[in-house]
Amino acid sequence: MATGTGAPRRAAIYARISRDIEGSGAGVQRQVTDCQKLAESVGWGVADTYVDNDLSAYTGKPRPEYARMLTDLADGVVDAVLCYHMDRLTRRPKELEEFVEAVEAAGVKHVRFVAGDTNIGTGDGLMMARVMGAFASHESVSKSRRMARKWEQDALEGKPRHGSTRPFGYAPDCITVVPEEAAIIRELVNRFLAGESARSLCTWLTDTGVATVAGGNWQTSTLKQILTSGRIAGYREHKGVKVAKAVWEPIITEEQHRQVLAHVEARKRSGRRAPQRYLLSGLLRCGRCGTGLYSSRREDTRRYVCQAGPDHYGCGRLTVVADPVERLIADAVLFRLDSPEMARATSGKSSSDERTAALSESLATDEAQMEELAQAYAARQIRMADWLTAKKPIEERIETTRRNLARMNGHSDLARIAGHGKQLSQQWTSLNLGRQHAIVKAVLDHGVIRPMTPGVRTFDAARVVPVWRV
Ligand SMILES: [Zn+2]
Repeated sequence: MATGTGAPRRAAIYARISRDIEGSGAGVQRQVTDCQKLAESVGWGVADTYVDNDLSAYTGKPRPEYARMLTDLADGVVDAVLCYHMDRLTRRPKELEEFVEAVEAAGVKHVRFVAGDTNIGTGDGLMMARVMGAFASHESVSKSRRMARKWEQDALEGKPRHGSTRPFGYAPDCITVVPEEAAIIRELVNRFLAGESARSLCTWLTDTGVATVAGGNWQTSTLKQILTSGRIAGYREHKGVKVAKAVWEPIITEEQHRQVLAHVEARKRSGRRAPQRYLLSGLLRCGRCGTGLYSSRREDTRRYVCQAGPDHYGCGRLTVVADPVERLIADAVLFRLDSPEMARATSGKSSSDERTAALSESLATDEAQMEELAQAYAARQIRMADWLTAKKPIEERIETTRRNLARMNGHSDLARIAGHGKQLSQQWTSLNLGRQHAIVKAVLDHGVIRPMTPGVRTFDAARVVPVWRV
């Protein structure tokens, strides 16, 4: 390999491993050693070594050391780059362009790879690099396609999904039945079919000290997922469809499995959308722990309570009698409808349509990005930890956009009722609960219920803190 470089260089060595499977960073060490050898052979000095461990150059996740190297190149701290292979540097054509631009802007002419003979410093090398960059990104796509095909094949053969966490009832190989857990599953199925609720079964599991696979609390969603899975009846499912008889032993019979599914369907139909019975459902929060309050009746008293236990994350230590809170909030809402702030807030509605369109578009973009990320994870281009980190800011953005959209929609409801507070308060008792709820919701974001002051036995209006939407 001819060098033709002349003067000694202050080279940067860049190394990266995309999936540090052994967790040892051994791959990176090999890359660095090979680059050091290459530096020696071409007579370059090594000024600094930049290592990004475990970050994929394909997903475009930020690589701090890569960024530091680009800065050092621009600052002239280093004037050459050594890297094991083009695909360590980047696997995305766009990023490769950026790299080439950064190198050219810095006047750096010496970029060498251990594998392949690409010298970006020359015109030919640059073209070669671009071609290789394009190829590298194609390689990632076809790799994920190959994996998807392999998974499908496994599914059709009834083999467990590779690399998934163990399901409850089965050992980590996803095949061997764990007898104690299998017995629990059978009992759960029997009790569920006998009419016991998922919630009550979760409480039983927690009280009996049965641990979930992940070690967390039992939620009804987890429980239902287990009970309705084809897996425990000996089916291999792929993308939600039974595709084969599984290679593992069933825990319940096919007949029981069918009964469970029918039972869930029947419950869904009968339990669909109970009519609203509480004015402030979904609008109150616990002043101790911040969790949403649930409506609950004890004997003749309607109440809102903070709930603990399965599917609930509250502290369980706050209760308020419903009637006085509802009267107080309704009065405050109706009064507020006629306030000058309200008149100001509901004017200028014309620009709101444009804003709604913009919000919807940004929501669609974020949702598409979430989908892309999920696919990258499913195709194992990124690891679980990276996926979770990457999706967090997007989720937060989606949440904010949804809130803003809801607010915009609330705005048009509001425009219709603003200034009519007095009128509405005269009709209030004749309005149905759904309508009353909608009016409150248009004005009130939520109300916080403060803990009771010890010794105060009558209703204390100071416990109710409204947080207004507008
Ligand atoms: Zn609470």
